[in-house]
Amino acid sequence: MPVIAGVDIGNATTEVALAKVEEGKIEFLASSLYQTTGIKGTPQNVKGVLMALGLALEKIGMERKDFSEIDLICINEAAPVIGDVAMETITETIVTESTMIGHNPSTPGGVGIGVGKTWHIKDIDKVPPGEKVILVIPGDWDYEKAAEVINAAFDRGIEVEGAICQKDDGVLIVNRLKKVIPIVDEVASIEKVPLGMLCCVEVAPPGRVIEVLSNPYGVATVFNLSPEETKQVVPITRALIGNRSGVIIKTPAGEVKERRIPAGAIYIDGPRGRIVVNVEDGAEAIMKALADSQPVRDIFGQPGTNVGGMMERVRRTMSNLTGLPVSDVHIKDLLAVDVLVPQRIVGGIAGEFSNEHGVAIAVMVEAQKLPMQRLAEAIREETGVEVVVGGVEAEMAVRGALTTPGTKRPIAILDLGAGSTDASFMKENGDIELIHLAGAGNMVNTIIASELAIEDMELVESIKRYPLCKVESPFHIRHEDGKVSFLDTPLSPNLFGRLALMVTDDLFIPLDLDLPLERVREIRRRAKREVFVTNALRALEKVSPAGNVRLLEYVVLVGGSALDFEIPAMITDTLARFGVVAGKANIRGSEGPRNAVATGLVLAYAEKFLNVKGV
Ligand code: ADP
Ligand code: MG
Repeated sequence: MPVIAGVDIGNATTEVALAKVEEGKIEFLASSLYQTTGIKGTPQNVKGVLMALGLALEKIGMERKDFSEIDLICINEAAPVIGDVAMETITETIVTESTMIGHNPSTPGGVGIGVGKTWHIKDIDKVPPGEKVILVIPGDWDYEKAAEVINAAFDRGIEVEGAICQKDDGVLIVNRLKKVIPIVDEVASIEKVPLGMLCCVEVAPPGRVIEVLSNPYGVATVFNLSPEETKQVVPITRALIGNRSGVIIKTPAGEVKERRIPAGAIYIDGPRGRIVVNVEDGAEAIMKALADSQPVRDIFGQPGTNVGGMMERVRRTMSNLTGLPVSDVHIKDLLAVDVLVPQRIVGGIAGEFSNEHGVAIAVMVEAQKLPMQRLAEAIREETGVEVVVGGVEAEMAVRGALTTPGTKRPIAILDLGAGSTDASFMKENGDIELIHLAGAGNMVNTIIASELAIEDMELVESIKRYPLCKVESPFHIRHEDGKVSFLDTPLSPNLFGRLALMVTDDLFIPLDLDLPLERVREIRRRAKREVFVTNALRALEKVSPAGNVRLLEYVVLVGGSALDFEIPAMITDTLARFGVVAGKANIRGSEGPRNAVATGLVLAYAEKFLNVKGV
């Protein structure tokens, strides 16, 4: 009664299915997984394979090193694709002559809107009575002194409408004034604020955002602008959206410009020759060029750009892996998604950020075959167990997926992984169509990381995986759907008032983000939708009979990203509109969307060589 181990070595995860074959029947004993070590298809994978096998052995009461309990290891003919992702920023906001201050000091002073001419506080005695002024207060001014001077000015009939100060003194000054005025503070380069110019300061009440300065017509009203001038302030107002405080100064030549940054070109070779598209034209233009080039022969990126560098990197990795010359390794697909990237504004005077446009691009290289035989030999040496390279990954995945209760042929599967989204369609007679597309879990992470400006990729993975909540008191949290939970034991004080990820009912990861919960949620969901819903449709169109998704009946989702708490529902929703039944797989009725390929390997081998019927 032989024991067989099916081993699926993926880009991200190595999965094992352990089974016993007895009297023409298969009994699955255990499943396990471990993160893939090294690039898939290389001897470095052995370490991960041994770990995963050991974990499965442990589950059936053996030692991790009891490989002799296994009679045969089947590894997959791994899909010969690798993917990668890069980001390119394509706009930048430039401020000339300091016309705007739009940052978010944590504690601006006062509240309201003030309009007047900018005056240095030291020159306040020269201001004629009746004049409306905005005072500029450098860091060497003590807040008590500043408040005293402003109160004296009020007494003389000078209308101090607001102030801009360098230190974090806004609240301290306002608390000492006879009248509340808006004060924007923590303006680092205060010496750059032009004097004698008309200026508007706005501070919103706590929990609110500015409304006048973030609206072009609001600014037009304050400064009495012509329709032409109003057009020109749009980039300024855009940069101020979402801030609690802001300043706009009207100078004769100053302006805020949004500039397109040349980000290089992408060359797509297809049946109609080479199509050139500029990265700065955005995702829609890039995807249109791709659609016009089907079937794609190869894709190149302009050298010296992030995207170009990334394309050469995947090409080289695949070339090293397979021994093929770089010129024989082709990029077969690409997915571009528009993103908004917070970037420091050039020429800003308080370290302002603005959301710039960017494009995230995922690509995928495909080779003929990976050198799996070499890897099989290495596994045999380490375990002493016979190793065979089993069937094609996509075929094994369908076989495994068909163990999901309620499925039958013809069936399509979507394998949602880390580097690529793969689809296969198995007809009634067992014939298979399959496709690999660029863009999957890693791309979602790249988009979330750029839009939230987070570098810690482990944290980004958690933001993708866990729902958000707001810790409103030590005893209650508000979930992202608005529901409130009360807790038995108080939460740690460092969570109070913050956004957090809810890993389990009583495990929270605090987030250090100065953004509303809704915004973070929207970024997370949009990233998932733009990658996986787009790719699910692109992939299914390619494998469906006559390219028509409506002709599919059953679609089963497998792979790590099918474990996501919202991606499967997004895909199910979208496919329901085409009359297609789609849902997360439940391999062998017990494994969820994991273990499809490993299970398929065991089934295929047992059927072919051990006379096991039906499955
Ligand atoms: P591969 O077949 O390429 O080895 P997997 O099928 O293991 O890849 O999928 C890996 C991807 O699945 C990663 O992008 C990872 O972030 C994602 N993933 C794994 N577990 C979860 C989860 N619980 N929720 C959301 N995504 C997940
Ligand atoms: Mg996989």
